Amino acid sequence: MKIVMLGAPGAGKGTQASMIAENFGIPHISTGDIFRANIKNGTELGKEAKAYMDKGELVPDELTVRLLLDRVAQDDCKEGYVLDGFPRTIPQAEVLEKELEKTGDKIDKAVNVDVPDENIVRRMSGRRACLKCGATYHIVHIPPKKEGICDVCGSELVLRDDDKEETVKNRLDVYHKQTSPLIDFYSKRNVLETVDGTKDSKEVFEDIKKILK
Ligand code: ADP
Ligand code: AMP
Repeated sequence: MKIVMLGAPGAGKGTQASMIAENFGIPHISTGDIFRANIKNGTELGKEAKAYMDKGELVPDELTVRLLLDRVAQDDCKEGYVLDGFPRTIPQAEVLEKELEKTGDKIDKAVNVDVPDENIVRRMSGRRACLKCGATYHIVHIPPKKEGICDVCGSELVLRDDDKEETVKNRLDVYHKQTSPLIDFYSKRNVLETVDGTKDSKEVFEDIKKILK
């Protein structure tokens, strides 16, 4: 099954994608995580992406698409995957669609995690991320077992550079202008499903499971 997660930054796409991946045994692919891993490792790609990410802007399509197509061509993606943070623009969605069409394939479901803007800024300031394995926590709603330490890999958790209030506001603007048109794009292809992302994360996952089964 090939799934796309849609929703504003901080809506809970990553949280849900990682539960979907575990439950359905498919890889969780986050372009944001791939960029952050590159930044951490000091690669050229990381340096290029960081300039955009720090301002809350999108990394150019050309760079992002190449990275994503390479990733989904890997062996572990044969049975499907859950994409988190990709596509983020109509051209990205079109390239993915064309690539899948080459093998008579398509995206099976686009899950839109709906959370109003006013909840987002609050969520982001409490987000803590593991830059090593990509796990995400919230200091109040989804805390790690040991404060500041990742449950999965034991690394230190950080407040992401782009989760500062000013940057979050810009990311929300970018979302409304460039990414939200994807709701209509996938709706026209009859694969869009919307869930209420303001519920507790476990309840949101129960709603998603009903859609995917
Ligand atoms: P996204 O991948 O859409 O940017 P995340 O999954 O990283 O969003 O979630 C953003 C923040 O909100 C994180 O700190 C996460 O732990 C927290 N969070 C996720 N889902 C919920 C929820 N249903 N209720 C409250 N907080 C949540
Ligand atoms: P995320 O981890 O999904 O919140 O992404 C963090 C940042 O990485 C975004 O604000 C963008 O700067 C960049 N990014 C991640 N995915 C994409 C994408 N598909 N297209 C462009 N930029 C992206």
